[in-house]
Amino acid sequence: MSPFRPNIVAMDGYTPGEQPQAGKFIKLNTNENPYPPPPGIRRAIEEVLDRGLQRYPDPMANSFRLRAAEVLELPGKDWILAGNGSDDILTICTRAFVGPGELLRLPYPSYILYRSLAQLQDARWEEVKFNADWSLPAAFGNPAEGLKLVFLPNPNSPTGTMISREAILEFAERLPCPLLIDEAYVDFADFNCMDLVAKNEKIMVSRTLSKSYGLAGLRFGYIVAQPHFIEQLIKVKDSYNCDSLSIAAATAALGDQAWLAENRANSIATRKRLTAGLSQLGFSVIPSQSNFVWCIHPRHPAKPLYEQLKQNRILVRYMNYPGWSDGLRISVGTDEQIEALLTLLKTMV
Ligand SMILES: *Cc1c(COP(=O)(O)O)cnc(C)c1O
Repeated sequence: MSPFRPNIVAMDGYTPGEQPQAGKFIKLNTNENPYPPPPGIRRAIEEVLDRGLQRYPDPMANSFRLRAAEVLELPGKDWILAGNGSDDILTICTRAFVGPGELLRLPYPSYILYRSLAQLQDARWEEVKFNADWSLPAAFGNPAEGLKLVFLPNPNSPTGTMISREAILEFAERLPCPLLIDEAYVDFADFNCMDLVAKNEKIMVSRTLSKSYGLAGLRFGYIVAQPHFIEQLIKVKDSYNCDSLSIAAATAALGDQAWLAENRANSIATRKRLTAGLSQLGFSVIPSQSNFVWCIHPRHPAKPLYEQLKQNRILVRYMNYPGWSDGLRISVGTDEQIEALLTLLKTMV
């Protein structure tokens, strides 16, 4: 007899993309930023080290909250909760809203982690398939027995597509529960939903510094919700869920909006080249609002392509979504990395 709860034994556990610790790879598999982060984070981290690490960090990361309220033009820091990466935020929300046997809704195909979070709670989950044009059916906003939380990544992963602000507002109006818009990739997109949080208390928006700020190794994310929501979420988080170094670096990074604008422009320009290059090689590519693209080739199965690329030291993400498709999710690297990828693919397809 296993001493573990049956739902833990039954689940597979979330498998992140490969992070090879040795050898030289062109790494296009986990949507990291290929460029160094905002330069100001170095001094911010050094200042913390000079003060010493004997003391616990500010449990609420208030320096970050104040900076974020200013940059995001929010009424105040009480609209923000910081987390140890936005995965921490997603965990906090699932624990706060969804009890055993209750229901979590998510679109399909989307971020695999959501399902693991439901399994950890011994909750049920319901996947609503995207329409062929990457909109969502009206059923995504329908009430359902036990429905307690809805996740919507926008832009979505692995497709890079987006649901409109109008549709999101309409879903939120009909849903009986909070709707968390996961904006992990929104800095690469044409629009965002931040201002909808004030329009409907059910709408919450999470973001991360892992992708657009080039700080995946730092672990910092946050959620924006109405203050009476944040007040409850605070009770669920670990007491010191963000460390002093990450709070200081994240605060400095968010303060450098000029850096973000330049990085965003670079990524979007390279995304265009990647999309055009793959299309030219016969791939069908979903137009992306993110820092990755999803592609399949009508004549070449995705898995062997992934394996052949890996043998040649280029890592992309092979993903298989039963009932939809398998394919390759390729992160937008530097122009040089994308050039190397396209050159190699040309010899394979
Ligand atoms: C990368 C990612 C996250 C989590 O990012 P963190 O590194 O934990 O901040 C959340 N949602 C989606 C859809 C992602 O792709």
